[in-house]
Amino acid sequence: MNTSHAKPASLPTTYAASSRDGLLEGLIVDGSRGQYAVETETATYRCTIRGRLRKQLDYTKSKGGGQRVQRVHVNVHDPVAVGDRVRIRPVGGTTGVIEEVVARAGGAFSRRDPDAGRGTLTSVAGLDQLIAVFAAREPAPHLRLLDRMIAVAEPQGLEVLVCLNKCDQGVAPWLAARLEVYRALGYRVLRTSATSGEGVAELREALAGRTSAFVGPSGAGKSSLLNAVQPGLALAVSSVSASTGKGRHTTTSARLCRLDGPHGGYIADTAGIRALALPPGSAGELARSFREFHPYQAQCHLSDCTHVHEPGCAVRTAVQTGTIDGERYASYRGLVASETSRDDTMGDIHHT
Ligand code: ZN
Repeated sequence: MNTSHAKPASLPTTYAASSRDGLLEGLIVDGSRGQYAVETETATYRCTIRGRLRKQLDYTKSKGGGQRVQRVHVNVHDPVAVGDRVRIRPVGGTTGVIEEVVARAGGAFSRRDPDAGRGTLTSVAGLDQLIAVFAAREPAPHLRLLDRMIAVAEPQGLEVLVCLNKCDQGVAPWLAARLEVYRALGYRVLRTSATSGEGVAELREALAGRTSAFVGPSGAGKSSLLNAVQPGLALAVSSVSASTGKGRHTTTSARLCRLDGPHGGYIADTAGIRALALPPGSAGELARSFREFHPYQAQCHLSDCTHVHEPGCAVRTAVQTGTIDGERYASYRGLVASETSRDDTMGDIHHT
């Protein structure tokens, strides 16, 4: 199902304690495989997980009206993820046990699990948006990579905000023109600079009350941009895990860092999304991530048209007439080819 037009639900920034059953609602902000840090309104609890949750997930009715589902069969060995809202039972001090998982909101990233080799697992649940950071000049922005990020984000209902960073270095006319293509497709484009402060207030506003992940190539200036948003934030999203004491490079899950300010919000650290994988999918599923294809897909002669070589392809005709941007279409072709060759990592996306 294509959820690209569905607005992801935002995570609430505060959680009410339930006096009815002694459980506290909170958000998993760190941890994996049995040990989790859960942030509640009053404290951050170190939690284990109730044994039965390993075999079934109890989705309970949340205040937002989520559904209750019992005995969901879970084929992964880590039934909860960073970003999940859960209800915990305090067992003394700031320790607790995760009793229930509240229905997931927003998107979730899939990634390959390098340890278990069991295919994809969810590492960040409840993400609202992806902040795609590129430098205006140096290193030169590769918009093929942006298209890949968008292809990851779209099927998961994540919004994409394009951050053209280091704008104090000047924006080349060709790049400004290219970014207009994305704006016209409905993606928000912000010009930012940690040096001049341009766009930082707007970025802060875009992050408030939402859960975001910053991605972008090395040298795009993510660290200085994060620190401009909130002093110390770059270190917080890259440093040693608070709950496990291990360096982030030794862990496989992401972590959420809370934003200051009246509206809160969270930033997912980048360790857990370093090896972002494209969701496994066919050319048809990839095509749905290219929203400008949508008006034409139904007009292709073949119902299973991949828009690559088939006769009577309305998407290719739209490319030829200039209605669909040729560079975006070239990115689509590249992604279809990389799916075929099973090269599904995000390549050079990592923390800087
Ligand atoms: Zn077609």
